[in-house]
Amino acid sequence: MLNLDHHPCFNPEVKGHCGRVHLPVAPKCNILCNYCNRKFDCANESRPGVSSAVLSPTQAIAYLEQVLKAEPRITVAGIAGPGDPFANPRETMETLRLIRQRFPDLLLCLASNGLGLLPYLDGLAELKVSHVTITVNAVTPEIGSRIYGWVRDQKRVYRGIAAADLLLRRQLAAIAGLKARGLVVKINTIVIPGVNEHHVPPVARKMAELGADLLNCMPVYPNADTPFGELPEPEPAAMAAIQATAGEFLPQMRHCTRCRADAVGLLEADRSPEWRGCLTACAQTSPPSLSEGRPYVAVASREGALVNLHLGEADYFQIWEPADRGFRLLEERAAPAPGLGPNRWWALAETLKDCRAVLVSALGDTPEAILREAGVIPVEMSGFIGVGLSRIYAGESLTSLKGRRGGLSRACCGKAPGEGCL
Ligand code: SF4
Ligand code: SF4
Repeated sequence: MLNLDHHPCFNPEVKGHCGRVHLPVAPKCNILCNYCNRKFDCANESRPGVSSAVLSPTQAIAYLEQVLKAEPRITVAGIAGPGDPFANPRETMETLRLIRQRFPDLLLCLASNGLGLLPYLDGLAELKVSHVTITVNAVTPEIGSRIYGWVRDQKRVYRGIAAADLLLRRQLAAIAGLKARGLVVKINTIVIPGVNEHHVPPVARKMAELGADLLNCMPVYPNADTPFGELPEPEPAAMAAIQATAGEFLPQMRHCTRCRADAVGLLEADRSPEWRGCLTACAQTSPPSLSEGRPYVAVASREGALVNLHLGEADYFQIWEPADRGFRLLEERAAPAPGLGPNRWWALAETLKDCRAVLVSALGDTPEAILREAGVIPVEMSGFIGVGLSRIYAGESLTSLKGRRGGLSRACCGKAPGEGCL
């Protein structure tokens, strides 16, 4: 049973005996804040955006297992960069899914700028992510345009007012969506002298209207080589005054320690320096070999002779294994129902977790990426199942078996094959 009170950032009463670990699985960012510099990792530096290594989801689980063994007081696993979780949604969602599966009693937490969060609202709720922090520095595009260098959405880059306006609209929708799903939401506001220090009360008022639970006013950290690198860091007295005013609208977090993206331990006793070696060692481990623990191959077939179904069209997958003379059909497994977004493909990866490959006539980019990450290699081909199985088990190339993508049915998801099958 999850105890939502056991989050040391949201509940200062437990900060002496409940800790957190940040898993640095999200290196990319989709915006540029004028105070951010993620280029440096100084071993003595503690600030957001800094991490000694980046982990894949499976590496993150191996690392987490070791951390939890040594530090059982950790109650929260979070993703806080070093970029933004939803500029790296595949890594983020897979890491959360693996944690929830392996450690059902851990609280799950995320810190994001909010730009790319909307498509994952339901997925987060399904995984019982309980605490989310959104950094909102302005509630007018005019002030926001002084804080953000650019905002990238899909492949388009926005600047100035248009960038700040897009980011703000997404943030407001994300916060409302998180609250509608019952998550606890904290707002981080970076206080930047001469830019937004008088704007914090309007931010607090707007966030309160949306139902946010807590506001964390953080003094800007003047990072070298950034547009705000020469600004003075706000004095503690000025921060206290801002918190007092903003506190009229929202409860204030006053114990933030501005953690690294690979922080470990209690807030006031960060152990990331002593875990640096383990973190970097985990980041260098290889993924399991293609066939390790995966004796079977899954096949999408209409009649059981040919590979002739698009991944999203298959209601069932045939599971094949090697036999004395050729191959044997072991069983059929039901495919997860459509309509779960990317979680449908994570669920399929779970269904096929003992399969080294899945043979399909075609599939979209999103399921392909998810299945690959989960260790099930998707193979696009057309022709007899036996030919595909022979080549898979012999470790041979399947390039010559690849069918044409054109002419496939759109029944699975309404998108053209290869267009991103969600
Ligand atoms: Fe840096 Fe975070 Fe801003 Fe991205 S959202 S630019 S990682 S501070
Ligand atoms: Fe908690 Fe602040 Fe550290 Fe985030 S940066 S984990 S809010 S103490």
